[in-house]
Amino acid sequence: MEILRCEHLTKTYGSGETIVTALHEVNLSVQRGEFVAIMGPSGSGKSTLLHMLGGVDRPTRGTISIENQDISKLNEEQLAIFRRRKVGLIYQFYNLIPTLDVNKNIRLPLLLDGRDPDDEQFKEIIRTLGLENRLKHLPNQLSGGQQQRVAIARSLIYRPAIILADEPTGNLDKKNTEETIELLKLSNQKFNQTVLLITHDEKIALEADRIIQIEDGIIASDEAVRK
Ligand code: ADP
Ligand code: ADP
Repeated sequence: MEILRCEHLTKTYGSGETIVTALHEVNLSVQRGEFVAIMGPSGSGKSTLLHMLGGVDRPTRGTISIENQDISKLNEEQLAIFRRRKVGLIYQFYNLIPTLDVNKNIRLPLLLDGRDPDDEQFKEIIRTLGLENRLKHLPNQLSGGQQQRVAIARSLIYRPAIILADEPTGNLDKKNTEETIELLKLSNQKFNQTVLLITHDEKIALEADRIIQIEDGIIASDEAVRK
């Protein structure tokens, strides 16, 4: 079943002589439960694509539908709700709120929605990520690997249908990189969450079901990974 489709997706930044076409007429369809790696040179449009799909920024032209909902038709408030409930965004830099402890950082998407997390689910995520003894710590009291795990916990707390990860292991050591990828695979395999992962690491990409190469704002290749 298709979970995500974009058609003629185009994004330009700036105007006049400084106009940059970051994405040009991109068509893409992703099935529920797919694990997709996105590769390509720096500046080719990978992050822009993830931002559009996650409703962080709006396309210049084209359509994006997620679970059959055209997100370009949403107003700002609806888009904010869409972001919190449907997609989990994970970045290389963790974007944790420095003044909130780990517990509050993780619960933030739910606090913003005036909801309580399912306790069972919260505990399971915390346990899986080994954060039980860090809930009262502030982000700057954690190592890089731990901060990334907090960011992942935050992005998983709603168990979003789609996880969009932009080089989440870009500044992690080998051990934390492996753990992060294992977690994404667990989310994918156990909870059937769809994962789109930007990576420069071919070894990581080969763990995906499918590798998309972006070059100069277009999809240069899109191939299934033979297992
Ligand atoms: P990648 O993630 O593949 O490195 P990006 O999507 O970040 O590529 O960038 C694609 C192109 O769009 C680049 O030429 C970049 O300079 C440009 N770009 C990205 N974000 C902005 C922005 N906010 N303003 C202007 N240009 C941007
Ligand atoms: P990892 O990244 O795998 O957690 P580290 O070697 O970076 O491992 O950290 C080891 C321990 O040191 C961790 O339990 C962490 O809590 C603690 N630690 C690391 N960096 C800091 C820091 N800046 N402030 C406080 N504690 C830290």
